[in-house]
Amino acid sequence: MNSDLMLFLVGPCSKVRNKLLLVSFDGFRWDYDRDVDTPNLDKMAEDGVKAAYVTPPYLTITSPTHFTLLTGRYIENHGVIHNMWFNTTTQEKKQYYMTQFVDDYWDNGSLPIWITAQRQGLKTGSLHFPGTAATYRNKTIQTRQVEPRFYNHTNETDWRQNVDKVMGDWFKTQDLDFVSLYFGEPDETGHKYGPDSPERRDAVRKVDRTVGYIRETAETHGLTDHLNIIITADHGMTTVFRGDGVNEIILSKIPGPSGMLLPKEGMLEKVFRTLKGAHPNLHVYKKEDMPARLHYSKHPRILPIILYADKGYVINGVIQYNKGEHGFDNNVLDMKPFFRAVGPDFHQNLVVGPFETVNVYPLMCHLLGIKPELNDGSLDNTRHLLLYGGESCDPKGGF
Ligand SMILES: [Zn+2]
Repeated sequence: MNSDLMLFLVGPCSKVRNKLLLVSFDGFRWDYDRDVDTPNLDKMAEDGVKAAYVTPPYLTITSPTHFTLLTGRYIENHGVIHNMWFNTTTQEKKQYYMTQFVDDYWDNGSLPIWITAQRQGLKTGSLHFPGTAATYRNKTIQTRQVEPRFYNHTNETDWRQNVDKVMGDWFKTQDLDFVSLYFGEPDETGHKYGPDSPERRDAVRKVDRTVGYIRETAETHGLTDHLNIIITADHGMTTVFRGDGVNEIILSKIPGPSGMLLPKEGMLEKVFRTLKGAHPNLHVYKKEDMPARLHYSKHPRILPIILYADKGYVINGVIQYNKGEHGFDNNVLDMKPFFRAVGPDFHQNLVVGPFETVNVYPLMCHLLGIKPELNDGSLDNTRHLLLYGGESCDPKGGF
């Protein structure tokens, strides 16, 4: 080997496109590794980058925040404003799962990274990730596994089979460039038992074993040196206040931490005045007056009156059994997810400060060497995670 070639290979401009895996563990709060031993997450931080936490967009619920990861847009800009699809004229509603199949709910202006990457010649896949089932501008994800109905999100054997499929079949055999992989835990356990429960700590141990398994499987398939892995989540979780002395918020039709209302014709002012000040821990806004920092106002799908409760308070419309909830203000620390990244393009043993999850999209586009769509994030907010400061040596690839 002559010395010029040697230089080329070791310098920053030896950059070849590495593969990328984006993993989401639903509802994994930033500090869940503090009261549980997590040897695999610790090792990943040692070998890569750990952020103190990341800030999801408001409304801190599953489909909207995942679509922000995939598009880099705030929710008012990408339009997937809720987990639930609803038609205000007919009152028809679809819950989270059925909403996954409403194409025009997802495909309304912002292209997710799978489709953008495919349009630029890359091969992409997605397993169970929110948004996987939809068609975007007449294109679907080339390789996908849509979550079955009534799927058991807690079965670790299934988790391992899914990891095997992604690493073995998709990355190794089919040579995909980008895959997103979703796990429904520890969200389910966090809701049911609360974030401070021993059950939640067990769920975190299971996540940690799976993180170990993901990295081990990458190694087995010879992928480690050319695969970047980002592991994060959509939102956090907080304990719901219950029992004596808790001044509960009771509204007949709006269960949960947040809600939206479309008052009948001519009733907006009256409904607004009635609700405003009705409870000290309930915030009531007209859509146009929502605080700008929440970026949850502009989209036509957002209804005229928005309500949200302070951390820990849920709006009790129906009897509500959850011990944990999310959906609160994204400033609340309990709503923040974790973030880890490891791979050939990332620094090692680096802890960085928090950043907003809108910035994950431009980071992923940079890693894949694709031109991003219009988005609300910036590579400048995540460049410091990357070796060579994210410098691109390909003049065409200066994203
Ligand atoms: Zn979620």
